[in-house]
Parts: sequence; C-alpha cells; structure tokens
Amino acid sequence: MPTMLPAGSFQGRTVLITGGGTGLGFAMAQEFGALGGNLVIASRKEEHLGPAQEKLAAAGVPCLAVPTDVRDVDAVDRLVAVARERFGGIDVLVNNAAGNFVVMAEDLSPNGWKAVTGIVLDGTFLMSRAVAKQMIERGKGGAILNIIATYAWTGGPGTAHSAAAKAGVWNLTMSLGVEWARYGIRVNAIAPGPISTEGTDKNLWPTEELRELVKGTVPLGRFGRPEEIAHAATYLCSDYASYVTGATLAVDGGAWLHKGIFGAKL
Ligand code: NAP
Repeated sequence: MPTMLPAGSFQGRTVLITGGGTGLGFAMAQEFGALGGNLVIASRKEEHLGPAQEKLAAAGVPCLAVPTDVRDVDAVDRLVAVARERFGGIDVLVNNAAGNFVVMAEDLSPNGWKAVTGIVLDGTFLMSRAVAKQMIERGKGGAILNIIATYAWTGGPGTAHSAAAKAGVWNLTMSLGVEWARYGIRVNAIAPGPISTEGTDKNLWPTEELRELVKGTVPLGRFGRPEEIAHAATYLCSDYASYVTGATLAVDGGAWLHKGIFGAKL
C-alpha cells in the first residue's frame, strides 16, 4: 500500500488500535503496519479481529488481536498487560472504537445512551488512562489519537448520544494534551467527515439517493476514503508531528464548514 511517510517511520514501535478490525480502524492498522509498526487490534468480536489479523500477518505485520470491550476496566487493563508482554510496551494508542445508530432523542432509551457514551467517552478515557500509565512508567513518551466526528462541534441531530460523547472526547483531547505534555505524550484527534466504509455504506447511506444527498454536503463533492484518514493518523502519531498536541484535524472535504449564504449551495 502507498504510504505518506517514509518507510520504517514506525519501525520498532507498537500501535494499539481499538476497533482495529474493521473500517477506518483496519485502514489505519494497515498503514501503521506498512510503515513498520507492530500492531495490537482490540474489539469485542472475534469475527472482526480474526480476518483482520490474518490479512495483517499475510502482509508481514506482527499483529496481536485481543478481544476487548473498551467499557470494561478489567478487560482494558488486561489488554494493556498482554500488549506489553508481547511487544514490550505501547507507543501509540488510537481510540477508534465507537457505536452509533440514528434515533430521535425522545425515543433514545437510557440503555442506548449508556451504550454509545460508554464506548465512546468512557472507553476512550479508560484506554487512555491505562496506556498513558505505562507510557509514563516507561518514560519514552508516546502518542494518543482520538477519532471523533465533526458533529462534536456542530451538534448531531439524530445522533445526540454519539455527538455528545464525541464532544466529550474532543474536550478530553485538549485536557490530556496539556496534562500529559510533561511526559512527552501527545494527544490529538481527527474529525472525519463522511467516509465510505463497509459499515457506513450499509448502515448510514444504503441507497444511491442518500449517497448523493451526503455528497451534496461536501464541498470537495465526494466521500472520503479510509486511507485518507490513515494518512492523517500516521502523520499525527509520527515524529513529524512532534510539536502538535491537543489539536483536532478535520478530514472531511470541508463538509462541516459548508453553510454557504443562508444555506445556499455555492
Ligand atoms: P466501524 O467499522 O463500525 O468501527 C467501529 C469499531 O468499533 C468496530 O471495529 C467495532 O468492533 C468496535 N467497537 C464497537 N464497540 C466496541 C466496544 N464496546 N469495545 C471495543 N470495540 C468496539 O465504523 P467506522 O466507520 O470505521 O468508524 C471508526 C471511527 O470513525 C468511529 O470512532 C466513528 O465514530 C468515526 N467516524 C467515522 C465516520 C465515517 O464516515 N466512517 C465519520 C465520522 C467519524 P466490534 O464490533 O468487534 O466490537
């Protein structure tokens, strides 16, 4: 796969990606792997992790797949311990795991709210805390990258639970970026716009009509590609971004700015 950074940019480094078996998480795993990184991918379902691990192994990427629910504090601690045992330590954490579904807020059940905010906000905190502790102990710094969404800033009618949780993670990115700067740990975020993946194509824009509608909201006039998120992710976690922390990069074709004059399409 073509990579943006020089070959070997992550040689000898270990990258842990939650939700690394599917969609954007897997695209990032492939690019970090192509750049020499050791990979740890973690999510709940073996049917997501197994095939991803096989594909990475076939590409020569050392890869550990660990079934983990990021809401479970003991499972998170186990994940970090297993990753350390296999690779010696974690240099990069990508908090990518998420759950989401479209529902009007008045119909959103307390359990639905808890599930999504639990994965996105609590999960990001639990993972960041566990990984940062070992980064602090090792004394080699590190990089943490949170995958949010542009509706962290705009609000997300129809997905209030996800938007609220992503806004929390956006804020956490800034707090932790400052708190952990003293340890050489950089904390940044990417806010993707509409990116075509197997999951989003099936669940969010299943018809051609919907796809056209979404495309119409993007000034660049198309869906994003998973590798465009992976390019940004590898940059932000690399030494080339060594002075960047607490920042969020929108990778969305300009979609979140697309208001025009009184909402007119320009
Ligand atoms: P996806 O393929 O559905 O990825 C979500 C991943 O999270 C899955 O691998 C899933 O694996 C994992 N996951 C869900 N619950 C989990 C839990 N409790 N513990 C651990 N892992 C869990 O969707 P995607 O489009 O690639 O999204 C990736 C990230 O990009 C998400 O944070 C999403 O909000 C963000 N994003 C995507 C878009 C887009 O257009 N694609 C736009 C904006 C933001 P299991 O089911 O195996 O647990």
